[in-house]
Amino acid sequence: MWQLFIRENVYMERIAETLSTPVTHECDVLVAGGGVAGIAAALSAARQGSRVILLEKQFMLGGLATAGLVTIYLPLCDGKGHQISFGIAEELLRLSVQYGYEKDYPTAWLEGGSLEEKTQQRFQVRYNAQLFAMTAEQLLLKEGVTILYGTSACSVAMADKVDVANDKITAVIVENKSGRTAIKVKSVIDATGDADICAMAGVETALFGPGNILAAWHYCENGRGYDLCMLGYAEIPEEDRTEETKTLIARRFRGVDGQELSEMMQLTHERILEEVVRKKQENPAYMPVTIATIPQIRMTRRIVGGYTMETSDERKDFEDSVGMISNWKKRGPVYEVPYRALYSAKVKNLITAGRNISAGDAMWDVTRVIPACAVTGEAAGVAASMTDDFAALDTARLQEKLMDCGVKLFYSQL
Ligand SMILES: Cc1cc2nc3c(=O)[nH]c(=O)nc-3n(C[C@H](O)[C@H](O)[C@H](O)COP(=O)(O)OP(=O)(O)OC[C@H]3O[C@@H](n4cnc5c(N)ncnc54)[C@H](O)[C@@H]3O)c2cc1C
Repeated sequence: MWQLFIRENVYMERIAETLSTPVTHECDVLVAGGGVAGIAAALSAARQGSRVILLEKQFMLGGLATAGLVTIYLPLCDGKGHQISFGIAEELLRLSVQYGYEKDYPTAWLEGGSLEEKTQQRFQVRYNAQLFAMTAEQLLLKEGVTILYGTSACSVAMADKVDVANDKITAVIVENKSGRTAIKVKSVIDATGDADICAMAGVETALFGPGNILAAWHYCENGRGYDLCMLGYAEIPEEDRTEETKTLIARRFRGVDGQELSEMMQLTHERILEEVVRKKQENPAYMPVTIATIPQIRMTRRIVGGYTMETSDERKDFEDSVGMISNWKKRGPVYEVPYRALYSAKVKNLITAGRNISAGDAMWDVTRVIPACAVTGEAAGVAASMTDDFAALDTARLQEKLMDCGVKLFYSQL
C-alpha cells in the first residue's frame, strides 16, 4: 500500500488534455481482455446473437494461459470422479488439445473411464500455448466476433456522472496503432484480469492483500525435448520456508502499477537467466525456448461485487448460481458461483469475468484459475447478451439460457 501511496503523491503534477475522440465502432457487447475469461465471454455472447467486439492489448488470445505460459488447464472435476464445470469450460479444454497435448492427457475423461479411473486421474491437461491461442482465435472468428488486437481499453465515457445511481458506460475509449478512438457499447464485460474497466468506471475494487510472489515460468530445451519450467510459487506456507525462499517471497507485487510491472518483468528475466546459466553448467544443451510476454501475476485487483465469494461457501446453495467450480488444490470442495459476484450495481451495464470477480483473498486463489475463468466468462457473456442493466436481469431467464448451453448450475444437478 505504501508504494501506491507514494506513487500517487509523485503524480500530483497534472496536465489537462482536451480530447475529441472519433467513434470508430459500435457493438452490443464489448469484451475487454482476451484471456480465457474474455474468450469464453465473447464466444457465449456471440452465440446468443450479439454483435461482439473483443479487445486485446497483446497480439494473441489467451492472456496468462498462453502469452503467460501457464499451460495447465486445471481440473473440471472435484477429484472424486465427478465433473463440476461444464459448458464452455469443457469446450475450451477440449479445444486446447484438439491438435495435440503436451502432458497429462485425461484419457478417462475424454475417452471414457470408470468412476475409479476418473478419481485417480483429474480432468485436467497440459496443452500447447500456441495451438490454444490459434484455435481459440479460429473459433471466435467463426462465431462472428470482431477481435481488435494491439488495442488497450484506456478510458470510459459515462452516461451520467451526476446521477451516479443511474450510471452506464456509453463508450469505451481505446488506443491502438490508429490512435485514440471510441467504441459505443450497450454492455461491457471486464475480462482484463485486473478490473481495469471497473476502476476506470469508478466501481469499488479491492487489491489482493498479501501481494504476489515473483513468478518466472518458462519453456526450456533440455536436450531430451522441451518442457515447462515452473519457477515461482503461488505461496509458500510458513513452515516450508527456507532462507532462500524467504528472500524470494519477501518482495510482493500488486500488479496495478505500470512501473512496478516493468520492474517485475525485468526481475523475472533476471531469474530465468540465472536459472539457465546454472542449468547449463550441468547440461550445455540447456536452452530457454520461450519466455512469457506478459507479467505472470496471479491476483491483482478485483471488483467488490454484490456478493464476495469465500472458501466457507463450499457446498453452499446459491439461488442465483451461474455455474460451478472445484478447488484445484484439494479433492472434494465444490462451489456454486453466485451471479452477484460478477457485478456491482453501481454501473448498470458493466459485468466482470475471470480472475477479477468478487472473491475474498483465500477464495481468489480458487476463482482465478482457467476453468473458473471460463465458467464466469460464459455466464457474463450470456448475461451481457440479454441486458444492459445487470442487477435488473431476471436471473431465472439467465439460468435457463445457461442450462440450454449445457452448463450445470447446482449441486443437485450432478
Ligand atoms: C505463475 C502463474 C501460474 C499459474 N498457474 C496456473 C495453472 O497451472 N493452471 C490454471 O488453470 N491457472 C493458473 N494460473 C492462473 C490462470 O492462468 C489465470 O488466472 C487465468 O488464465 C486468468 O484468465 P483471465 O482471462 O481472467 O485473465 P488474463 O489471462 O490475465 O487475461 C486478461 C487479458 O486481458 C488483456 N488486457 C488487460 N488489460 C487490458 C486492457 N486495458 N485493454 C485490453 N486488453 C487488456 C491482457 O493482455 C490479457 O490477455 C496461474 C497464474 C500465474 C500467474
